[in-house]
Amino acid sequence: MSNATATAAPARASAGGPLDAPRAFAGSQELAWAQMLAAPVRWPRPSRLGDPLEPSSAKMADGLAALGLDTSGDLLEHLPRDHREARSVAQLRAGEQATVAVQVRSIAGRPVRRRGMRGLVEAGVFDETGSMRATFFNQPWLVKQYPPGTRLVLHGKADGSGRFRVSHHAIGADIGSNQTQSVAHYPAAEGVSSTQILALVNERRHELAEVPESLAAGIRVAERLCERRTALAAMHFGGADHVRQEGLQRLAFEELLLTQLVFLMRRGRRAEQARAPALADPPTLSARWLEQCLPFELTGDQRKAIATIAGDLAQARPMQRLLMGEVGSGKTVVALHAMLRAVEHGAQAALMAPTETLAEQHFATVQRLLGPEPVAVALLTGSTPAARRADTLGKLSNGELSLVVGTHALIEPDVRFRELAVAVVDEQHRFGVRQRAALGDQDPARAPHTLHMTATPIPRTLALARHGDLDRSLLRELPRGRQAIDTRIVVADGGRADAYRLLLEQLELGRQGYVVCPLVDEDQDASEAQTQGAGDSGGAGQARAAISEFERLGRGELAGRRLALLHGQMRPREKQQAMVAFASGQADVLVATTVIEVGVDVPNATVMLVENAERFGISQLHQLRGRVGRGEHRSTCLLLTSHPSPPGSARLQALVEHSDGFELAEIDLRLRKQGELVGTRQSGLGQFKFASLPEDTELLERARARAKTILTEEPALSGPLHGPLGEALERAFGVEALQPIPA
Ligand code: ADP
Ligand code: MG
Repeated sequence: MSNATATAAPARASAGGPLDAPRAFAGSQELAWAQMLAAPVRWPRPSRLGDPLEPSSAKMADGLAALGLDTSGDLLEHLPRDHREARSVAQLRAGEQATVAVQVRSIAGRPVRRRGMRGLVEAGVFDETGSMRATFFNQPWLVKQYPPGTRLVLHGKADGSGRFRVSHHAIGADIGSNQTQSVAHYPAAEGVSSTQILALVNERRHELAEVPESLAAGIRVAERLCERRTALAAMHFGGADHVRQEGLQRLAFEELLLTQLVFLMRRGRRAEQARAPALADPPTLSARWLEQCLPFELTGDQRKAIATIAGDLAQARPMQRLLMGEVGSGKTVVALHAMLRAVEHGAQAALMAPTETLAEQHFATVQRLLGPEPVAVALLTGSTPAARRADTLGKLSNGELSLVVGTHALIEPDVRFRELAVAVVDEQHRFGVRQRAALGDQDPARAPHTLHMTATPIPRTLALARHGDLDRSLLRELPRGRQAIDTRIVVADGGRADAYRLLLEQLELGRQGYVVCPLVDEDQDASEAQTQGAGDSGGAGQARAAISEFERLGRGELAGRRLALLHGQMRPREKQQAMVAFASGQADVLVATTVIEVGVDVPNATVMLVENAERFGISQLHQLRGRVGRGEHRSTCLLLTSHPSPPGSARLQALVEHSDGFELAEIDLRLRKQGELVGTRQSGLGQFKFASLPEDTELLERARARAKTILTEEPALSGPLHGPLGEALERAFGVEALQPIPA
């Protein structure tokens, strides 16, 4: 990898005349080779960071590979999970695993007459509080490796009689001498322990000097950030918490800055270089369709999104827009309008969905929505018969067919469009970046306008972190006819009877209901409660598993009612049967786990009772709740909780007060930032190595703003100020990130 001066030099040479002989720094005198070779070595030499690690065994090599650690640079960026305070010798307690920093006074090997044993090494070690005997098994070479005077970090167990059985050990360098005596604990893997990683880091410590600085001094000052190498040193060896905190901030800032630069540069390139068909003629088909074919009034948000998108499409720069709206918010109408704009310009449009089922659904919706308009639509998936497929491909390439709906099958290499002007990608997060870009990817001079759709509401900051190169449109309003759901918190002691009374009342009226349980069976409960961590003081036994709840309700409160059971461990056919029974009204109540979150649409269901509601995350509860309130009747969602403790109740209260998924996503983010535990589902925000969201939201905003200024100063990141940043970008994302190829 080249450094700043190396890349800058040829550029200057070609611009400013004959400069073929090497010259002294800032001088005009030509240098002879001998002088060059004799010149002092300068730091940093980032290429050194590419040196491979030298594992001491094949096992360790596997371990390092599993952690993705190949080079010195990788190792220095492999940050400790935490720092544990090393005990002093006097503080060790018998039988307890502990880390201790000591110095060797004496060391000797002893033969051991036992099969399979390669001897015992015993060392007399000490610190300022006392001394003890450390024992190492099966490593006779340590006698040479750790001569008296060596500082060691030992991890192991004291036995109470002045002996310490060592399980992991490393040369301690200065670690024992810093004030807090803490020891870094690293994410480890089979074959390489945290202590061994610490030893490797110590060995390569001097290479921190080779770490190049990517942020201009002005930025570091303005943002109050330390140098990169200082930050890394702090993470590995820093004593106090706040020092490590500052180090992490610096690394996280740079990481966020780089991603924002990539996003902004991609946008810039798109605006400047990529060309899409400008769909600017007055509407004909699309206007007629809006006025005459839709059986409903558009919501305000739909109208706004349609207008914004029409504006995007009229430009010769390709649209890249994210359309967010919950399930049922009417995204398809908006997408279809954009597609019809393409059709009325004699161009083509495609809609790509992540699964065949979704593609088929879209195909049906599109056909239904088109109504009497004579526009041909084709469906193209993996199971399209060969003859039909060949026919469709032919018509797409000669332009006879203007609309197509499909799956990944649309981006296979032999699919050619005559003129693809609008590409819609549904549930875009389920496609890889490549796949998303592949639709109509043939020629940057004729890129399609692209609309990405998602039903997951993402707060602004997270959208910035993930899709910082996309414009956004939101559909917050649900179509008319949808009713707000009366949501109540019910404290199970005392409130439970009322909850069933309400459910039974609805059943009397001919309605149906759901009972949702957090877990499948009671066995799973204990382990799951553990992984969910604290904050769940209700304990394992209280979760009402779907199976036992189904049986209990059948004998108890809901005796005589027709119950169906649905959980993820049932066979697909059984699930299907349960769903059909409920949807057709043969069952009054569906007792289920969260599998009902997706794809269940029973308008006659008007009550939902959620057991142990405090165990779910906000967005999950919101999704669940969306299963009721889908028909003409007013619906109720009862959140049962046995312990409305403050943290859990803030989440539940949010659901009582808000029905807007975006609002709830924002609240969710805020609560998580304040450290409230997430529910059962993984948050899925771990896309960064150093930064973590939502905690680093403020840092992200700063990085976004800073990225904008940087690009006004040096758009190509190749000048004296931001050249090093350009190189960091290239190291992190590859050279494509900087190249003028439209994304
Ligand atoms: P999404 O893809 O956002 O989940 P769809 O576009 O599939 O939602 O719309 C869900 C249902 O609502 C469809 O049957 C659609 O025809 C209907 N719909 C869309 N917009 C409206 C509206 N403004 N008023 C009434 N119904 C609508
Ligand atoms: Mg949809």
